[in-house]
Amino acid sequence: MKGYSPQALLRLNERYSIFCQLIEGDALPDHRFTFSAKDNLCTTEFQARAGSRILEGYRPPFDATPVHRMRQEGGLLIGKTNMDEFGFGTFSTNSAFGVPRNPFDEERACGGSSGGAAAAACLIPGHVSLGVSTGGSIACPASFCGVVGLTPTYGRVSRYGLIDYGNSLDKVGLLSRTVKDLSHFLPVISGPDPKDPTSCVQPPLDLNHSREGPLALPTECLEGLAPAVKEALLRALDKLSVHLGVEVHEISMPSLRFAMPAYYVIATTEASTNLARYCGMRFGVPEREYHQHFNDYFSGVRSEQFGDEAKRRILLGTFCRMVGFRNKYYLKALGVRDLVLEEYKKVLADHSFIVSPTMPFLPPRFDEISKMRPIEMYRADFLTIPPNLTGLPHISVPCGYEGGLPIGLQLVAPHWEEGGLIKTAEVWERHFHYHFPEVSP
Ligand code: GLN
Repeated sequence: MKGYSPQALLRLNERYSIFCQLIEGDALPDHRFTFSAKDNLCTTEFQARAGSRILEGYRPPFDATPVHRMRQEGGLLIGKTNMDEFGFGTFSTNSAFGVPRNPFDEERACGGSSGGAAAAACLIPGHVSLGVSTGGSIACPASFCGVVGLTPTYGRVSRYGLIDYGNSLDKVGLLSRTVKDLSHFLPVISGPDPKDPTSCVQPPLDLNHSREGPLALPTECLEGLAPAVKEALLRALDKLSVHLGVEVHEISMPSLRFAMPAYYVIATTEASTNLARYCGMRFGVPEREYHQHFNDYFSGVRSEQFGDEAKRRILLGTFCRMVGFRNKYYLKALGVRDLVLEEYKKVLADHSFIVSPTMPFLPPRFDEISKMRPIEMYRADFLTIPPNLTGLPHISVPCGYEGGLPIGLQLVAPHWEEGGLIKTAEVWERHFHYHFPEVSP
């Protein structure tokens, strides 16, 4: 981060809208490294609004565990990164606090929902961003912004202090320019935390453990790819087989087709219960008329303060968990999740990793996004959703460039095998040259 004063960061932010809050002052205090936290992670010195107006003014009295651990390591938190409201989105265009712009082309999206986190990792050398993924929010923006994004196994990193989207899906992870940074910081943020029981059942993190065996390439992941993405993938696989000496097996995983609908049922169901707490009584929106009927009061606040996508998710999720529909949708989706996991386990018993592109197309322009229907946006995540639905660790690394825009490659490993992912990604990094845009702040 050498050379980036708070003023330089401010200028960078005026151009790219990466941060929704930024450190102030004349010079940065002493630090070993700088890091940023996605806006849905609680920290004491900034507001935590999760990209939503409904949390305006909420200043947590505590740090989220991953933030706390980064500070203990000597990190300086320089800001809260911009994101889709509560994590609802694929392009970070659903933020209430401006839309982050892609460092490779300002007319294009950063990806989402950790768009600001990926852009910060790309634009600030040596910087490491804490991101959060529910259905692909680390891998997608990492791919679109040409950086490395690691989503650990569900439960590896404590979720204490994270503003929940879908509790059975949320994972805190890392984004940076290099795999080396991730291998340094993953052990820092990982490990049991008594404040999050889910994190307490994990086996130790072993970064020396590598995985041997052929790579599996599901044919389902080759459907509907933009030609440039498919070509970059095939070139990368060629390179991988030469330098790693591994074979690539084309296989079929039919259950992957059902992961996307199951994910949106589970994610919106859990989100709709999580969002019920934002009614304008405890968080945000001060100075209101409290003499109304409670229903009118809550509806007024929620209608005004939630964005359109949040409202859509509340409606979808509430519908899925209504009496009479619960078994038909939510419980069925949980069954699908089990099926997908079974299939992953079967394939990973004979293969080292499952490989695919991270996103099916190049980072889109904002005018293209504005014409997309919600279902088209949801479909864009068909490659990142399956590992997220099943809590499997995965990494996205840059694997090619087309017209100056980055393309990402995704590797998926069995539960708790982040070490193998990092080792293989390190080998990749030794043989593939990453590009970063030259920006003078
Ligand atoms: N785009 C997906 C969604 O909107 C995933 C986002 C996320 O991981 N937070 O749910």
